[in-house]
Amino acid sequence: MTRRSTSPQKPRKVPVVRTVAALRRAMTRLRAKGATVALVPTMGALHAGHLSLVRLAQRRARRVVVSIFVNPSQFAPNEDFSSYPRTWNDDVSALSALKVDLVWAPSVREMYPDGFAARIEPGGAAKAGLEDAFRPHFFGGVATVVAKLLLQVGPDVAVFGEKDFQQLKVVTAMARDLDIPAKIIGAPTVREKDGLALSSRNAYLSQGERAAAPTLYRVLKDCAAHIKGGRPIVDALAVGRAQIERVGFAIDYLEARHAETLAPIASPKDGPMRLLVAAKIGRTRLIDNIAV
Ligand code: AMP
Repeated sequence: MTRRSTSPQKPRKVPVVRTVAALRRAMTRLRAKGATVALVPTMGALHAGHLSLVRLAQRRARRVVVSIFVNPSQFAPNEDFSSYPRTWNDDVSALSALKVDLVWAPSVREMYPDGFAARIEPGGAAKAGLEDAFRPHFFGGVATVVAKLLLQVGPDVAVFGEKDFQQLKVVTAMARDLDIPAKIIGAPTVREKDGLALSSRNAYLSQGERAAAPTLYRVLKDCAAHIKGGRPIVDALAVGRAQIERVGFAIDYLEARHAETLAPIASPKDGPMRLLVAAKIGRTRLIDNIAV
């Protein structure tokens, strides 16, 4: 008979490793008897979106490793590296409750020791003129740290959110181009009831900004419906941009792109289409995207 997990006991605290050497020892143990491994890379400040990635990882592999590392090399000097939310105790509790097998939480020095001088410069989707146009630093930093995480952990699969759609494409191409033998899996975006995509940065929003924020998703949905209904893409996007600006956002982009290459696309007949948006309200920059 299998034991029901109804006991009120606190879950076992997830083991945490902080050095590459300790990680390698832990991975050897986790891999015993050929168990498959999934990696979920995060920057901590975990919310239900991150936890849905963990659950997907648990369906795809026997063992799940979650990395928590706020990666300085993907933040520009004027960005929010030092103020990025850090909620270590809550993160460890949430991952323990989900029975995650290991947390990989290196220090900045462990990841980038003195003399560290390598950097991956991704092309292709990383130069699509979306996030890269506004955060030129970003994908080099992401590709480099994700390559390191994949090589350190050596997972069979790694799970990334569609919420960061361009990032998902960049990481998928990077792993393929560098022959890193991990399958990259995309996971659907988890949203608040009013449609706002969960994000660690939502914590920065004032009450008024929070009330305006669901406009992004509403406009994406309206644009997708109009485009599917035959409205010219440029018209649908122009109306959408005006609606987003009306509630107080400054738009970086609202674009229709090919869902695989992220190249501009003239019609939904030319391939799967994705709408992507980035906009700032107050000091907070939000991104979102949906399929058409
Ligand atoms: P972050 O810690 O923000 O870098 O995110 C870690 C991972 O969680 C990335 O793969 C994100 O795309 C993913 N993620 C962030 N927000 C969400 C969300 N609302 N739904 C699903 N995945 C998400």
